[in-house]
Amino acid sequence: MSTSFLAINFAYVISAALFIFGLKMLSSPATARRGNLVSAVGMLLAIVVTLFTQGLDYKWILVGVIIGTAVGLVAAYKVEMTSMPEMVALFNGFGGLASMLLAWAEYHQNPELSVFIGIVASLSAFIGGVTFSGSMVAFGKLSEMIPGKAVVFKGQHLINAGILLAVLAATVLFAANSEGLYGVFILIVIIALIFGVTSVIPIGGADMPVVISLLNSYSGLAACAAGFVIGNNILIVAGALVGASGIILTKIMCKAMNRSLANVLFSGFGATTAKSAGDGPQGEVKPATAEDVYCILEAASSVAFVPGYGLAVAQAQHVTRELGDLLEANGAEVLYAIHPVAGRMPGHMNVLLAEANVPYDQLIEMDDINPRMDSIDVCVVIGANDVVNPAALNDESSSIYGMPIIETHRAKTVIVLKRSMKPGFAGIENALFYGENTRMYFGDAKASIQALVAEFKSAD
Ligand code: NDP
Repeated sequence: MSTSFLAINFAYVISAALFIFGLKMLSSPATARRGNLVSAVGMLLAIVVTLFTQGLDYKWILVGVIIGTAVGLVAAYKVEMTSMPEMVALFNGFGGLASMLLAWAEYHQNPELSVFIGIVASLSAFIGGVTFSGSMVAFGKLSEMIPGKAVVFKGQHLINAGILLAVLAATVLFAANSEGLYGVFILIVIIALIFGVTSVIPIGGADMPVVISLLNSYSGLAACAAGFVIGNNILIVAGALVGASGIILTKIMCKAMNRSLANVLFSGFGATTAKSAGDGPQGEVKPATAEDVYCILEAASSVAFVPGYGLAVAQAQHVTRELGDLLEANGAEVLYAIHPVAGRMPGHMNVLLAEANVPYDQLIEMDDINPRMDSIDVCVVIGANDVVNPAALNDESSSIYGMPIIETHRAKTVIVLKRSMKPGFAGIENALFYGENTRMYFGDAKASIQALVAEFKSAD
């Protein structure tokens, strides 16, 4: 074993340790920023050390670095915060594509693979291909380029089962003797790309968070398999970490939706068509002005903000914090209740509120706020819809039935900030807006909260 081989692998061990510590730190808002930095340092070390591997063609690496840096820089500056989830879907997809191409390039260079490398090369190509095309579908759904609803067709499960069997047979054939089986390898790639589409289109509506985290996990598994193909230890470790953390996140997301993974993947939830107008919620919508809302908040001794996707659209996190500070100064207890699937990506609300430096001890999870909801004076729902929809509790025919929600309807008063009566991501009506104790405060969330802040300041 050469000294450089040992030195490279020693550096990889340090990188792996930095990844693990970084991941651990990501689990608390207080240390998450540093955790991100620690992991990034680990990645930088891994990249620099890998460049010392013998036999590399630096010309092509430089081309990749220049193109990647340019795309990354432009994306970081140009992409709106609200488009982050789509961007994450693209990142996952390209991670999968890279692993698929890596396996392909390795096979192209050396067509005589051992049985083990044949198996991991097929896995890398298959999982990578599924991740790529599946992520493109998820990207299309999140950016509303294609309908967000689940698309189900007859015989879907049978087709998917057939695809899986075909890929298993192709892998066995390929791994047994890869030489001269270029066509079989290409077949695996094509099947993977088709399977990515057919396995993600039946998932829609409120189930998308599970798909996003599952694809994230797949991208890690593909990278792990690619690491075995080219014999790179840090790629194996990093891929395994992404794969495992993605699966854990998927489990958390399933729990947040009160569904099993099999149910999300195979039931085609959200495919049901909207109900007829007559089935809509009963009751009266009671609009409120900034002055009305100010009077309610001014008298409240406990206020819980419930943010949702609209907070991200309006970029209202900073003014919300300002309003929270004013309410505290007015003697109210202020909380920020976070639903695990609020927004469009896991942790979306935590990221926004952390950006506005909302104190961590004021963040409260769904399971902790619900038991004390009856004693909360005012719930201020800021651009949230599906995650506060009581249909999830009491309407068995609803596509979100069974999903735990933040039970704002049980608070003494609910104020909902949104621009119109339009539905949220799942495309369904919300009886909360018609509730006895609900007031609708229409408008862009940022402008609406700014008006409340102005009311509080002018009262001083
Ligand atoms: P929803 O999509 O249910 O509702 C968002 C609401 O925000 C809309 O009703 C909209 O109403 C309002 N809104 C939009 N822009 C503004 C604005 N500028 N000012 C004020 N209000 C605004 O969001 P939720 O967070 O409640 O629920 C998340 C949904 O997304 C769930 O169905 C979840 O499953 C799904 N999802 C979540 C992912 C995740 O990982 N977290 C990933 C993918 C999907 P109006 O237009 O009238 O203003």
